[in-house]
Amino acid sequence: MRIILMGAPGSGKGTQGDFITRKFGFPKISSGDLLRQAVIDNTPLGREAEAVMKRGDLVSDHVVIGMIKERIEKEDCQHGYILDGFPRTLSQALALEKMSPEEAEIVIDIHLDDNVVIDRISARRICSGCNHIFNLLLKSPEHKGICENCGGTLLQRADDKPEVIKDRLKVYHEQRETLVEFYKEKNVYACVEGDADREDLFESICSLLDRTVEHVIKDDMVQ
Ligand code: ADP
Repeated sequence: MRIILMGAPGSGKGTQGDFITRKFGFPKISSGDLLRQAVIDNTPLGREAEAVMKRGDLVSDHVVIGMIKERIEKEDCQHGYILDGFPRTLSQALALEKMSPEEAEIVIDIHLDDNVVIDRISARRICSGCNHIFNLLLKSPEHKGICENCGGTLLQRADDKPEVIKDRLKVYHEQRETLVEFYKEKNVYACVEGDADREDLFESICSLLDRTVEHVIKDDMVQ
């Protein structure tokens, strides 16, 4: 089973992906996280991606496709996986079909207005120690700039700065329509409203997932 999470930066794909992992057990694969790790590890891939990511542009298809292929070939993805941030272009979607023609698939598009995206991302901070993500709009840490979990310093991602967010949104909208059309055509597309409490949003996502899983079980019984 393949679950693809679509949505603008800051729409909550990462958080919802983690919730799905906890409930259903499938590993979450975040292209952004993999790329950021490659930058930290200073691998050739990371060196190629760093400047592009800082600008808010897309890393080239061949780099991202190779990276995802390597990841989904691992043992823990055998029964299913969640994709967060991939595919982002039609050629990535086509490459995914080729590398893993999954029978059961659902694409969940988390919808969020651009102005909400900008507010949310501007308030996002990440702990340099434990990678926990804070949203200052929801809750400020007791000591400014300090992580409540581990005492690490809270940082803002270079591409979360307001001037870069606008570029990331532009890139996102340029690619989105084609991808949505592609998955609507495949009959696997569903959209949920992202401007909601994270628990309520997860409930909407779960009911979509439960329906898909039910379908898969029924289809198996028919065969
Ligand atoms: P967001 O979804 O909030 O933009 P991500 O963490 O998913 O953040 O991605 C951060 C950056 O990593 C993107 O702006 C882009 O430069 C790069 N990136 C992530 N996924 C892809 C992808 N599938 N194709 C190309 N570039 C990607």
